[in-house]
Amino acid sequence: MVNQENPMMKYTELEHIGSGGFGHVVRALNNATGGEVAIKKINLQGLGRKELTVNEIVIMKRYRSSSVVNYLDSYLLGEELWLVMEYMDGGALSDVIHKTCLSEDHIAAISRECLQGLDFLHSNDVIHRDVKSDNILLRTDGSVKLTDFGLSTQLTPEQSRPCLVAGTPWWMAPEVVTGQPYGPKVDIWSFGIVGVEMLEKEPPYWDQSHTSARRLIATVGTPKLRQPKLLSALLRDFLSCCLQTDEERRWSAKELLQHPFVRFAEPASSLVPLIVSVKKRKETRM
Ligand code: ATP
Repeated sequence: MVNQENPMMKYTELEHIGSGGFGHVVRALNNATGGEVAIKKINLQGLGRKELTVNEIVIMKRYRSSSVVNYLDSYLLGEELWLVMEYMDGGALSDVIHKTCLSEDHIAAISRECLQGLDFLHSNDVIHRDVKSDNILLRTDGSVKLTDFGLSTQLTPEQSRPCLVAGTPWWMAPEVVTGQPYGPKVDIWSFGIVGVEMLEKEPPYWDQSHTSARRLIATVGTPKLRQPKLLSALLRDFLSCCLQTDEERRWSAKELLQHPFVRFAEPASSLVPLIVSVKKRKETRM
């Protein structure tokens, strides 16, 4: 599955971008092309890590689209797996959310781009299962892409409704936290929670433990917004279509792309000034 060449000859590391539970991510230069890449260095030691990593590579290799972060190559160096992918120079949506205030126009454009990614995955019978603002990456050309496919699952005729509880608690759909069989619309609920993050900077029940958050998701249903009166009727309606407790009533990605809130959204290029200004602010603080 991995490339047998020595990646140290092919890439020059430039800077450490961030760390996760698995290892860390660096920005690097492809010596031959001069192009920038991100390399996720995954420590394969640890329970379940190998399975998650193989899963991430299989899904990323199989599905390429302008709305998901694209896989470029992978290498095995001892117990470390290097996953080379396109470099997203605008960082994560979570960063943008914390460093600025998003207008409804921004939210609409970001939503459309994310829904295109979800529609692409769902049309290929893939459920992402970990949609959250940390897993939505941006580029300074305005592109918005989904990433982190470690928890995603490919549906098959034999396994078309999984019931494994997977994801990050605060973003989990009610049918996930209650252990019921579920389908792709769990990603739509999680995406609705990203909508709440874009407005309120954090998901509902963020101050609660994993267990309490899961209990509240199961019992409260659609979360209450802090200041609904400050939002347009269109945005409120859009969020309510994403955050229907009943999976049948929750809209699909394809249907949401036709919702007037996103249908009339500005092009992705309208996000450039926002992404560039957040990037500049991050650089001046370094
Ligand atoms: P975990 O995988 O355990 O949930 P995590 O989500 O924090 O941890 P990653 O998302 O894989 O870990 O990445 C760590 C950091 O690297 C984050 O700041 C993320 O935004 C950044 N990053 C990941 N992939 C890329 C990429 N392709 N381009 C630019 N930055 C990236």
